[in-house]
Amino acid sequence: MKPNQARIKQLQAGIRTRAAARLRGGKIIRVEAHPIPEHPRPRRVVGRVALVGDAAGTVTKSSGEGIYFAAKSARMCAEAVVEFSNNGARVPTEQDLKVYLKRWDKQYGTTYLVLDLLQRVFYRSDAAREAFVEMCADMDVQKLTFDSYLYKTVVPMNPLVQLKVTAKTIGSLLRGHALAP
Ligand SMILES: Cc1cc2nc3c(=O)[nH]c(=O)nc-3n(C[C@H](O)[C@H](O)[C@H](O)COP(=O)(O)OP(=O)(O)OC[C@H]3O[C@@H](n4cnc5c(N)ncnc54)[C@H](O)[C@@H]3O)c2cc1C
Repeated sequence: MKPNQARIKQLQAGIRTRAAARLRGGKIIRVEAHPIPEHPRPRRVVGRVALVGDAAGTVTKSSGEGIYFAAKSARMCAEAVVEFSNNGARVPTEQDLKVYLKRWDKQYGTTYLVLDLLQRVFYRSDAAREAFVEMCADMDVQKLTFDSYLYKTVVPMNPLVQLKVTAKTIGSLLRGHALAP
């Protein structure tokens, strides 16, 4: 079980309390919650079977974005199938299908790595999450986040801006005692 799974009811109650003023007079018609499946799969191609989307674990850490990556992985896999089947003339092998994975990891590997790292650092405690929110007030961080989200790649920063953001990040983490064990 994931660490927050048992706390779903408590977390829902927290949201309801915070939104109480806006919900006044409203009626609950359905209560539903589901953890976002952000678990990369160690085996995504076996034999003639290739996984895409959530089945392959393509939801990104930190942002929980999965729709784009589900559609994109399906497209890349389908393109590999068409390419290696010679438009349907032969059955693609496991090696052929693995080309889709190679291309996928080349295109998005860094994005997954960076977002995983962000989540490990900033989602480890409430203090770290607060530091993350503080850091996101910075316009350069907002621009980087927006561009990366839009272009689905880690957009490189000007080195000076990078230095400033790094210093601010460390400052936020230290101020919030977010690095304490
Ligand atoms: C609470 C929540 C919030 C999210 N918010 C966002 C968001 O804001 N932005 C974003 O980009 N992503 C978000 N995601 C992630 C996103 O929804 C998924 O990554 C995306 O829908 C994955 O698409 P998919 O086609 O791989 O899988 P799915 O959308 O899960 O599609 C799989 C389909 O297969 C069907 N199926 C399963 N088993 C069988 C079977 N045996 N036979 C036939 N059919 C079967 C299922 O019913 C389902 O319709 C969120 C996820 C959750 C849970």
